Amino acid sequence: MIQCEGLVKIYKADDLEVVALQGLNLTVKQGEMMAIIGNSGSGKSTLLNILGGLDRPSAGQVKVGPWDLLKVDDKDLVKYKRDTVGFIWQNNARNLLPFLTALENVEMPMTFAGKMDRPYAKQLLEWVGLKERMHNKLTQLSGGEQQRVAIAISLANRPQLLLADEPTGSVDSRTSDIIMDIFRKFNKELGLTIVIVTHDLSLAGKVDRVVAIRDGLTSTEFLKRNPNLDSAEAGTIGGSPLDEVHEAFVVVDRVGRLQIPKEYLKALEIGDKASMEFDGDTITIRAPKSLEGEESA
Ligand code: ADP
Ligand code: MG
Repeated sequence: MIQCEGLVKIYKADDLEVVALQGLNLTVKQGEMMAIIGNSGSGKSTLLNILGGLDRPSAGQVKVGPWDLLKVDDKDLVKYKRDTVGFIWQNNARNLLPFLTALENVEMPMTFAGKMDRPYAKQLLEWVGLKERMHNKLTQLSGGEQQRVAIAISLANRPQLLLADEPTGSVDSRTSDIIMDIFRKFNKELGLTIVIVTHDLSLAGKVDRVVAIRDGLTSTEFLKRNPNLDSAEAGTIGGSPLDEVHEAFVVVDRVGRLQIPKEYLKALEIGDKASMEFDGDTITIRAPKSLEGEESA
């Protein structure tokens, strides 16, 4: 569904350049529900905005289904945004029209696309648990309910891919659970591919795969040890939920590069060189031997 290779995004402001993505690789299979985690400023929103067609990549490859987002022209990009992807923001004011009813909000993107489908709009609101509230104006709904309306809106045009940027960032943990359950239901029943960006590790147990971004690169990948267990059943006692439920893998790119965490490098005082040994089944990376040692070797 998604294939990014060597994806680069550079923001230019005046004479300042910010490299938000520096050659990122990411593959997402159709029907997957996965999360991207990373600290603030690591490039998560940049990646999601590019995947959503809201921002243009600077270089590299980025494909979503049959769409090549590096090459697509502006006209096709509008079509892509309307038909292929649904988008949810943390701040749902970007998704919603407050003085219309929930139902009218869901019908709005259908109207723009010329594909009005009231029964489906009602169905979506029922699926997100708002059957009884569909004729309420948004100003009469709670924050969590509004976020559920936002989910229904994002699916109004039957996209194949749902992108959510910190979707549970401004709701309490109970509402956050409800939202994650709704995502899971759409993932299972509609076969929707879902990418959730978050800095909240507790969401991680609710998805099959987590990819960590560090400094604009995918660094570590976490796979569920038992995909049939959710985090509650697996029992996340203390520590990070990721450790309990997931197995961590370092990402190795096509030419064999991997990212070593900064704290490891610091602990071993590794600067721009390290020594590496391979004994047939283990690779060992160490601080470089002394220059003397190097010369005699
Ligand atoms: P995250 O969502 O992980 O917090 P972002 O993708 O928003 O990270 O930002 C990644 C980096 O790119 C940050 O250093 C941020 O300051 C910079 N950045 C993001 N958007 C812009 C922009 N429109 N103009 C300039 N710099 C930006
Ligand atoms: Mg962000």
